[in-house]
Amino acid sequence: MDRGADGKFERRTSSHFELFQDVDIDRSGGFHGSRRFEQEVLDELEEAYDSLGKLLSLRPERRISVVIYDREIFDAHFRGLFRFQAAGFYNGQIRIRGTTRLTPRLSRVLHHELLHAALDAAAPNLIVPGWVNEGGAEWFEARAVGKRGLSPQERSALVDFAAAGRLLSVKDLSVPAFGRLGPRAAGIAYLQSYAYIELLARRYGERKLPLFYAELIRSKRLDRALSRVYRLDVAGLETALHEEFR
Ligand SMILES: [Zn+2]
Repeated sequence: MDRGADGKFERRTSSHFELFQDVDIDRSGGFHGSRRFEQEVLDELEEAYDSLGKLLSLRPERRISVVIYDREIFDAHFRGLFRFQAAGFYNGQIRIRGTTRLTPRLSRVLHHELLHAALDAAAPNLIVPGWVNEGGAEWFEARAVGKRGLSPQERSALVDFAAAGRLLSVKDLSVPAFGRLGPRAAGIAYLQSYAYIELLARRYGERKLPLFYAELIRSKRLDRALSRVYRLDVAGLETALHEEFR
């Protein structure tokens, strides 16, 4: 385990996770103490694990490491990786820009990063196209809190991007990560990736999503996964998405 700047990471484990946290909580006991926070985060992660198994049939076997950093330490360590403010990322471990409470926002970030960790565990050498990886993570974090489909705001943002000719091509969205994009482009990239997975879930049913990810993991080929599960090719999917926001 790498040590934080002050080297005071607390370690705690559950069935599928090991948690290290270094947020600025003075007390260990009590309602606002660090032990309670750690337990809440682990409980949330285990719930997320169950949801991921139910929704996408992904159930990583090896324990996943999750590191929650104090915000300043996170920013000092990882600022160079992103051109926008990242709430967390996955690079072999789930790394989270921390809060001292389990907020709804933190819960969503934990869900999001868990999808990345699970895909990596299932296919460590597979470079997953960004829209499949980030779109899946965005879809999972939204779906886990009961959100189905694009919100009116998301839909109108995509209509506006389309009208301005700013929708990204599926080729642009196939880079493995969006960290190098500027804040505006990153916003479009995440939203549009979500829209791709949402389109697949809505038109073909949520139950096909786990088949799609399983076929991608098995064959290591996006074109094969799309054609086997959806009878689609990438260009056809791109056309379908762009037509939705015309
Ligand atoms: Zn992500």
